[in-house]
Amino acid sequence: MLPLSQTMSRHAQDFIDDARLEKLAGAADLVDVGHLREVIAKSLGKEALSVEETAVLLHTRDRELREEVLGAARELKQRVYGNRIVLFAPLYIGNMCVNDCSYCGFQRKNKHAVRRTLGTEEIREQVVAMENQGHKRLIVVFGEHPRYDADFIATCIRDIYDTRSGRGEIRRVNVNAAPFDHAGFATIKAAGIGTYQIFMETYHHKVYAAVHPAGTPKGDYLWRLDALSRAFEVGQDDLGIGALFGLADWRFDVLGLVSHAVFLKDRYGCGPHTISFPRLRPASGATVAGQGLVSDEDFKFLIAVLRLAVPYTGLILTARETADLRRAAMEMGVSQIDAGSCIELGGYTEQTCGQRMEREQFSLGDLRSLDTVIRELTEQGHVPSFCTACYRLGRTGEHFMEFAIPGFIKRFCTPNALTTFMEYLVDYASPATAKSGLAQIKVELEKLEDSPMKQKLLERLELISTTDQRDMVF
Ligand code: SAM
Ligand code: SF4
Repeated sequence: MLPLSQTMSRHAQDFIDDARLEKLAGAADLVDVGHLREVIAKSLGKEALSVEETAVLLHTRDRELREEVLGAARELKQRVYGNRIVLFAPLYIGNMCVNDCSYCGFQRKNKHAVRRTLGTEEIREQVVAMENQGHKRLIVVFGEHPRYDADFIATCIRDIYDTRSGRGEIRRVNVNAAPFDHAGFATIKAAGIGTYQIFMETYHHKVYAAVHPAGTPKGDYLWRLDALSRAFEVGQDDLGIGALFGLADWRFDVLGLVSHAVFLKDRYGCGPHTISFPRLRPASGATVAGQGLVSDEDFKFLIAVLRLAVPYTGLILTARETADLRRAAMEMGVSQIDAGSCIELGGYTEQTCGQRMEREQFSLGDLRSLDTVIRELTEQGHVPSFCTACYRLGRTGEHFMEFAIPGFIKRFCTPNALTTFMEYLVDYASPATAKSGLAQIKVELEKLEDSPMKQKLLERLELISTTDQRDMVF
């Protein structure tokens, strides 16, 4: 028998059937309009879709019918999430890597990459700089390397939580790192992580093998596909999946993501907390040809399809995309974005002119500051949120789904969004952002009916404006 450190989950299974997904992804325009509308109605009833139903949406090519899909996604987003947008930022801690993913600037073969791993003091400096911008939620990112084992990552996470600057603190650390074994997942869970996120990159076996050479750890498709099952088995149930769009056919990978969500829900009673859909960006040393490039139109459409397929799963749109695209795509159902992001190691304190490709994993499309993004969000009627309540109160996994279904998100998330947004406005915003943010809070308060909850919310907003009291969670 293999030692525990190399064991898969109890029922490890490769649930991706390429032939079936290729058939579903490749079928010509087979849209039966009546069926399409039934699928949309099911989703608007907040029911998750099957892989086959998702394929029906994906095949909508007619412009007017596509509009119906996009409109439904906008509506579902409003119904489930309201106009909140949760904000976070990435913190790259180390870019040493034993893999050779052909699309990534950190790949072992890239001799131009400047390799660096932040030490404890350097991590603290980065965190202070991020807190001083107003961030409360981070995702730590690592290459795959024996040095970045679960103990190392857990220590980094504890250091981050311990680092405080003025009223600033990081209240949630998410992790994007190579897949762990059971013991590794237990170790990072004990450090108090929020979401553990891992992208399958592509679910298509052949394309996966072409971009992740055999003999490297990442070349093992099933070890990666099975990672979240191992996490579930040790109680880490706040999980994120993703696909890197641009490697394989985009319809195939949307179906791969939905297959993964369905598999987790069936086996563990709970789907992923988030789905990410990064698009391939230029990277130092990257050699990938990019056979599945997705146009902006298709990209916005695929976000809408994902929104409809998994109504209760958060959708994350990163600063890989340009400000213009993010503005437009947000409406389709995105619930989280990063802002003020810097992906160069040490980049939050070591100011450089523009991006230096040999020090970064890939190039970013949106380099605006957190303050600018927040001002723009409020001008467009969104409510920026730094809420971290659920995972700190144990509302994750299956429990989160129970709460989420009867409209919990609006009851708890809106007040938490408003209090954390008020904290940002009072503690960090520029005068122009504070002005536009306070006006947005006023609009949101007017929408709330009188209730004990509204009374409590008003009191808390007042306390935030006039005292040092912070972090009052609903
Ligand atoms: N090294 C770990 C791994 O591969 O899972 C952890 C995170 S890796 C640094 C984060 C993610 O960046 C990858 O999963 C991949 O999807 C994405 N990525 C890599 N190269 C990219 C590129 N050129 N453009 C956009 N995203 C990229
Ligand atoms: Fe390494 Fe991750 Fe980049 Fe692959 S994607 S080369 S594993 S950092």
